[in-house]
Amino acid sequence: MRIYHFTIIFAIFAAMMLYLTEMTMKQNMEEDREIQFFDRVMDRASTSAAQVLALAGTSGIEGVKDLAADTFYEALAAGLGQSGETHSMTKLRLYVPVIAVTDGESVFICYDRFEKEENRNVLVRAWSEPVAAGADELSELLEYYCNNHNQVAERAGIQYSFVLPESDGGLFARGSGGPGFYALFQGYRPSGFSSVSNCFSFSGTGVMKAEQFFINVSGNGYSSERYYHRKGCMHLSEESIMFTTGKDCALHGAFECPDCMGGY
Ligand SMILES: [Zn+2]
Repeated sequence: MRIYHFTIIFAIFAAMMLYLTEMTMKQNMEEDREIQFFDRVMDRASTSAAQVLALAGTSGIEGVKDLAADTFYEALAAGLGQSGETHSMTKLRLYVPVIAVTDGESVFICYDRFEKEENRNVLVRAWSEPVAAGADELSELLEYYCNNHNQVAERAGIQYSFVLPESDGGLFARGSGGPGFYALFQGYRPSGFSSVSNCFSFSGTGVMKAEQFFINVSGNGYSSERYYHRKGCMHLSEESIMFTTGKDCALHGAFECPDCMGGY
């Protein structure tokens, strides 16, 4: 071999390396873009759901947890550009192994299972008994329901193996007393995507912490009360509606409570 042979071989080799590097970079960028897309959609969906939970105010999350889950799925479907039809919603639900809602004190875990209805298998939503937020058993329970989902998904023909990310179980342990919504979205690949979704989102604590004002509920829904209050005010009744700004309260015809709002 002459020297120039080596030069040619080297040039070909260098060109190949350059091509491969560029391909890898392109692929990584595409992947990053897709991951960011999933994160954004999930963030919006879980924030919408957390807002529903926050509206429960002092009356508790148990009554609104289904509405929060519905809100989450609707926002998720919309974010992914899907219709809200039952068929595509069911498909989407199969890629969400576990949802959990908390008021800061207790946590309800939401999971899906198949039930026989008139000889057809129908995907049915179920809720766990409330668990104390931050308890050791909570992460075990989340893991249990997440693993359990593998059988549910398999029955629907999904081969993805659902796993709770290791750091996830401790999410509620660091929650600090506010309403929050948690969901895991794994294994879903929209058409045209090269990667599957694998993201969890927790929305609530930080977002909802800002300001909370309450108007007592009387009758069916909206208040005829004249004042809005801060949490813990002696005038606050058991059922109330939460608002995040005083302006919103004013729009509902309420004034600052002279006892708990005075001096602020
Ligand atoms: Zn008050």
